[in-house]
Amino acid sequence: MEANQFREFGKEMIDYVADYLENIRERPVVPTVEPGYLRQLIPSEAPNEPEKWQDVMADIERVIMPGITHWHSPKFHAYFAAANSYPAIVADILSGGIACVGFSWIASPACTELEVVTMDWLGKMLDLPKEFLACSGGKGGGIIQGTASEATLVALLGAKARAIHFAKKEHPDWKDSDIISKLIGYTSCQSHSSVERAGLLGGVKLRSLDTDNESRLRGDTLEKAIEKDREAGLIPFYAVATLGTTASCSFDNLEEIGPVCNKNNVWLHIDAAYAGAAFVCPEYRYLMKGIERADSFDFNPHKWMLVNFDCSAMWLKDPSWLVNAFNVDPLYLKHDQQGNAPDYRHWQIPLGRRFRSLKLWFVLRLYGVEKIQEYIRKHIGLAHYFESLVKADDRFEVTQEVVMGLVCFRLKGSNDISKYLLKRLNKRGLIHLVPSEVRGTYFLRMAVCSRLTEKEDMDVTWKEITEAAEEVLAGKYM
Ligand code: PLP
Repeated sequence: MEANQFREFGKEMIDYVADYLENIRERPVVPTVEPGYLRQLIPSEAPNEPEKWQDVMADIERVIMPGITHWHSPKFHAYFAAANSYPAIVADILSGGIACVGFSWIASPACTELEVVTMDWLGKMLDLPKEFLACSGGKGGGIIQGTASEATLVALLGAKARAIHFAKKEHPDWKDSDIISKLIGYTSCQSHSSVERAGLLGGVKLRSLDTDNESRLRGDTLEKAIEKDREAGLIPFYAVATLGTTASCSFDNLEEIGPVCNKNNVWLHIDAAYAGAAFVCPEYRYLMKGIERADSFDFNPHKWMLVNFDCSAMWLKDPSWLVNAFNVDPLYLKHDQQGNAPDYRHWQIPLGRRFRSLKLWFVLRLYGVEKIQEYIRKHIGLAHYFESLVKADDRFEVTQEVVMGLVCFRLKGSNDISKYLLKRLNKRGLIHLVPSEVRGTYFLRMAVCSRLTEKEDMDVTWKEITEAAEEVLAGKYM
């Protein structure tokens, strides 16, 4: 493909994407294809001769779209919001055009430097403590990871390195393997599955602690667990608190957890994957009170802050625990400016990294803080509107306090009746929701996900739910 064809193809693709997004409501939100559907639609071998881009374009509707779940449809209410905005898409085109691999400063200085600065911008927008910001002149700073799961693992590895360092200082005769076998980390039973996975990948034990009745991890629960483990000869080293749990969007009590971690030299990582975006609005910052006690904090602009996947914003107060612990420095990666700017390869798992800060920069500039705040507030307002519809119907109940853009609700009565409701909704296929369960209570989650969602969309969703509920209550279960 030559530049002139690229211009044509690219323009056509821009039009296609704009049409796709503006008309996304009309598409069935979840596909009805069976596994293996796609193999039958394309040849079994790659073509020997180049094809025409027009033929590739034509295959998008024929091959791809039948198998797409339309995450940006206002009828999509599963999981949590996934970001999608035109500024981020345009920035990704530029990132693809530059196509640098910014593992070190010299590998593309702008790639590193824009990330340092935009992460400071973002940190200031959330009013993070200055110890997390590179501009404060201390050790701290931000990095864009691919996902919140990676951030949790990277923080765990930093905590592990720190714990080994201090244990060796106290017991110079202990081997790394002795220490690692004693390390114990903590999280709540409501934290995301990626936390448990970080423990498995990091080769350390993590304890899953019980929460209070509102699904929040409390300080005394953590403190008791730490005391018990210390008495058993273990070394508490890491804790993950969640702000906005996946199941029900509850918030661990940081004000209680932080001092317990600090007192016990336990690295506190905060996973605010979804809800962290709301802290751009001052009125939600009460939910992150106590953040100054944390060692690392992560949230996903690729969830609820209009930056297309992948963009997980992580800040560390002292990245040197990572940089020093995993510093493999072959000659071909060395450069003259080492130490004068971050080499992000030391802060992450892979070596290679894309120019992700471009899309963050474009979004922050082309929306501005106020429009981002407006967007968050609008989603929360829509969730409260939906909550009011549920509460006005006495066949239903709201099971968790609505704080962000998620409403957890169920039909009153047994779990089975709500399970049937979800089955019925899936069969009808107009909207898409996923269920969850907390303390034995099954419920449906209605997340406001799309940038395009309006009040009328909430009405459509609620009408669909009440119609399906009527069918279920009339005994139509499947
Ligand atoms: N943590 C929480 C609280 C989440 O809700 C999610 C995903 O929904 C994750 C972590 C995982 O995010 P990622 O896909 O960025 O790893």
